[in-house]
Amino acid sequence: MPSPSEEASGEHPAGHEPAPPPRQHRWSLHLALFIATGFTTTLAGIRLAGEVPAEFGGEGILTQILSAVFFYRELLYVMDEPSAALAGLAFSVPLLGVFLTHEMGHFVVARLRGVDASLPYFIPVPFALGTLGAVIGMRAPSNDRGALVAIGAAGPLVGFVVAFVVLLIGFSLSEIKTAAEIAALASDAGVVVEGDSLSYALARWLVHGTLPPGDDVWIHNTAYAGWFGMYLTWFNLLPFSQFDGGHISYALVGRHARALSIGVLGTLLVLFAITFNPLWVSLCVVLVLLSRFIGLSHPPINDDRPMRPLHKLIAFACALVFVATFVPNPLHPHPVSEQRGSERAIAPRVPADEALPHADLTLDKPRPRGLASERDSSDSPLPKRRDPRAGRPEATP
Ligand SMILES: [Zn+2]
Repeated sequence: MPSPSEEASGEHPAGHEPAPPPRQHRWSLHLALFIATGFTTTLAGIRLAGEVPAEFGGEGILTQILSAVFFYRELLYVMDEPSAALAGLAFSVPLLGVFLTHEMGHFVVARLRGVDASLPYFIPVPFALGTLGAVIGMRAPSNDRGALVAIGAAGPLVGFVVAFVVLLIGFSLSEIKTAAEIAALASDAGVVVEGDSLSYALARWLVHGTLPPGDDVWIHNTAYAGWFGMYLTWFNLLPFSQFDGGHISYALVGRHARALSIGVLGTLLVLFAITFNPLWVSLCVVLVLLSRFIGLSHPPINDDRPMRPLHKLIAFACALVFVATFVPNPLHPHPVSEQRGSERAIAPRVPADEALPHADLTLDKPRPRGLASERDSSDSPLPKRRDPRAGRPEATP
């Protein structure tokens, strides 16, 4: 997650203890977790690309159960058809690229500031995105608010830049579909709209310019990775507890940061009331659960010095990135998917008949198969997405 629970400073709130010996890096553990996460995120990418026929591996009850949540069919399929891994890698490589640069941003700046930080621990999971992100162990500086800002901001800022580059590449690999094609897909199989943030819309415009009304980009797996990279950047910048944004807000407003943490929870519920998007409630529940472990308040720091202009500028840059990566209505069904025949065909870019993970938080269930999945979709002008030969050739890099 790139680091809500960066173990931050729970270990040393006071700073009067003798300095512990420098941390020994556990290289083999870091590497093993990274490789395992590469494996699970590649399976997630195969699922997102719709590479695997729905019936692959049989319809046994165990297969169905294992495949509903976990990447069981994808695993069977890629063992049978190794080339399917390419579509998965088009997702996992850029996604882990964003996560790795995010964490290494924290790591490098922490080390430059003399803070003892560990290398990232990636967290593989066999469902959703294939990972819960990564965390680094760190003993936060106990008397330097500037260092807190610099270390907290380094991850999201560098991760944002990489995610933006990933988006530009991903959009250039994506194809345009016309309004009619999109409406047919939405009506036939269901389509989920990923939702725009300012930075996401900017990247799309830089690559594709202004599209005719109703036309839209059918996003490639790499663009999908960029979308999640942006979304997780925003998530980490929430001014909450010991998130990256929580470190920064504590450095700025001190103990009042607790009120910001509570404000975040309230804002998520307001967003739900406006959009009826259940993702906001899921996020709120996750934050409440996390706060049981890391608290709502930031550990205290004894630093009465005024903050340097440079650190204020860095905090301002983070605020801009936070605004630019905010998606008001993420991962919602295309209107035509809910209301066939509707004229309101807008922005469908993500296939709905995949398990759609919610950011790094994995609270969701895989979506049911597309609304029309019981229907024979051979009347569709478009290829059935679950045919690995006919479906989405753009999914391979
Ligand atoms: Zn971070």
